Amino acid sequence: MSAPVGRFAPTPSGRMHLGNVFAALIAWLSVRSRDGHMVLRMEDLDTQRTSDAYADILRDDLLWLGLDWDQEMAPQSRRSQVYEQYFQHLADLQLLYPCYCTRSQLHSVNAPHLSDGTYVYPGTCRDLTPDQRASFGRAPAWRVRVPDRQWIVDDHIQGIYRENLASDCGDFVVRRADGVFVYQLAVTVDDGEAGVTEVVRGTDLLSSAPRQMYLQELFGFPHPEYAHVPLLLAADGRRLSKRDKDLDLGALRQRMTAQTLIGHLGFTAGLLETPVPISARELAGEFSWEKLKKEDIYLNATQLLG
Ligand SMILES: [Zn+2]
Repeated sequence: MSAPVGRFAPTPSGRMHLGNVFAALIAWLSVRSRDGHMVLRMEDLDTQRTSDAYADILRDDLLWLGLDWDQEMAPQSRRSQVYEQYFQHLADLQLLYPCYCTRSQLHSVNAPHLSDGTYVYPGTCRDLTPDQRASFGRAPAWRVRVPDRQWIVDDHIQGIYRENLASDCGDFVVRRADGVFVYQLAVTVDDGEAGVTEVVRGTDLLSSAPRQMYLQELFGFPHPEYAHVPLLLAADGRRLSKRDKDLDLGALRQRMTAQTLIGHLGFTAGLLETPVPISARELAGEFSWEKLKKEDIYLNATQLLG
């Protein structure tokens, strides 16, 4: 079997928090434990929230942790001409149609998506006539038609996840009304063009995998392997986020060495018996999917910060 290709795909909208670090660490360990290739790309489609300054800090934080990469792709904000070609391919396949629904319309008529709280699109705009389309007098979003077919994600951590896009998701948006391509399309294109063979990321993105598998098939990319890493939760069960300032890397770098932090995360993940300081490189020797904890992890912040 050839060496794996993995990726970091951070959003440069602030300092990494511990949950981001955890997912990045597992992604890196999986690749480096098998002498694979690591790709970095900045997911900055939302140019209002992201900045090059944060991207610089992210690179510096990853290197401080000892999580290096072999290649960096152009950031998503600068790849819209590439995405345009794939969008055109979907149009050539006659799979796209314009959607004029407003956010409030989408929320009022639809049942929530099975797993991530977004809404199942009922196909309202699927068969509008040219006259009906013209009558809206504004730019539409673009949706891709989905088949009535079950997708199966065989996840290294979460096991089998099934989703029928037709009943659980509906036709989904690939380009917003303001012209910006959406995450699902950009991620599929970026992973496919970089030859990514394994996608390791937070479990909050598990329900994105079937949409991406569908697009991979349409674009002619092979499916990567998937591993959706447990979320790190605060003691009260809340998901860690950028608001937890004492647990972002800016604060943690003031308090401890990278080895201390990596050792704690390795222990938390189930890779180490005790939270001993260790480098990421050394921890790669301890890595296996079998050892890794499967359920969401409650973080013992007192132990970490104490
Ligand atoms: Zn619509």
